[in-house]
Amino acid sequence: METSVLVINCGSSSIKYALVPKDPAGPRLSGLAERLGSGEARLKGTDSNGEPFEQTLVDADHARALEAIFERLEGRLPAAVGHRIVHGGEHFTRAALIDDDVVAAIEQTAALAPLHNPANLAGVAATRRLFPDLPQVAVFDTAFHQSLPPRAYRYALPEALYRDHGIRRYGFHGTSHAYVSRRAAVLSGLAGGGWLTAHLGNGCSTCAVWEGQSLDTSMGLTPLEGVAMGTRSGDVDPGLHAHLSRQLSWSLERIDEVLNRDSGLLGLSGLTNDMRELETSAEAGHEGARLAIEVFCYRIAKSLAALSCALPRLDGLVFTGGIGENSAPIRERVTALLPHFGFELNRTINSETIRGREGRIDAGGRQLWVIPTDEEGQIATETRQRLEEATA
Ligand code: AMP
Repeated sequence: METSVLVINCGSSSIKYALVPKDPAGPRLSGLAERLGSGEARLKGTDSNGEPFEQTLVDADHARALEAIFERLEGRLPAAVGHRIVHGGEHFTRAALIDDDVVAAIEQTAALAPLHNPANLAGVAATRRLFPDLPQVAVFDTAFHQSLPPRAYRYALPEALYRDHGIRRYGFHGTSHAYVSRRAAVLSGLAGGGWLTAHLGNGCSTCAVWEGQSLDTSMGLTPLEGVAMGTRSGDVDPGLHAHLSRQLSWSLERIDEVLNRDSGLLGLSGLTNDMRELETSAEAGHEGARLAIEVFCYRIAKSLAALSCALPRLDGLVFTGGIGENSAPIRERVTALLPHFGFELNRTINSETIRGREGRIDAGGRQLWVIPTDEEGQIATETRQRLEEATA
């Protein structure tokens, strides 16, 4: 019997997929359908021999792309589908077996994630139509952070905004923070403990995890709050919007666009949001690149120091995400800004720990880990757990 889970991450014009076997470390079939809805839609990925493939998808929408994805599974019908859903609001504190009520509840949170949830739901609807007998589970980016206490999730705003409109901090990247903190607990033999996790990719967030529960995180109502990211500003003065509106007559749409797409590493450097390019340019003397890296690392260290207040005890720090997993210099800079935490980096091991390698990089003292994130594996695991509970 097939026990793989098909993990689907559906965007407005793309579908990322991975067929994850029961042993999450086992080989996966994976790929990406992109430019859906345009005349240039295509599907690319790797087959079970690790061979890459690419095919054109004529006039493909999400449903047609999903059909093509299922054809690429080499006859292995998955036991279930796990959908990544960005926002579960306060309703979803864990993964949910999808039925009409769950779809309706996800639709209700669309106002909180207008760009993401409708696209995620399009994938759910198409999969349900195509494979009505296949169990499907929704796994939410926000659910892991539903354990935040009120002191961490409430903004200092009038209560009615929270009560009537759900204005509060939700946090994102939950599957990643859940995965790496659990992995750190296992690898360190602590079976729990207090961890700071730094997910540093194009989007970046930090999290404080105690005994497997998220107690605080840097992202808030939207994924714009917190540390500086590839193109997102992270925290700014909340008075900035009014200032830009009054002084420069910028519309809300323009402000939103600038803070989400033109800021962060890209905005600071005036060059790129790609950390590899920034590191090379900074070394070659580019001032903007140097400043972007400096602000980036300082903001991360500051955020981690702030989040440490949430933890009764700190056992270690975990780096993950494209930058956290691959950039030894960024890890070195961030830990160097936290000397009072007792972090001591083993510089040799740190510089050798790149390209998806898992490892401990401290020289004693508090633990420092690099743990490649596995959001697809985590979604598959949660999907399987939810199904087992439902059939128990
Ligand atoms: P992600 O969103 O997790 O895929 O991460 C994307 C980010 O990781 C981009 O900023 C990349 O430049 C960065 N990245 C990937 N590989 C490296 C590397 N070897 N050194 C520095 N940054 C990297």
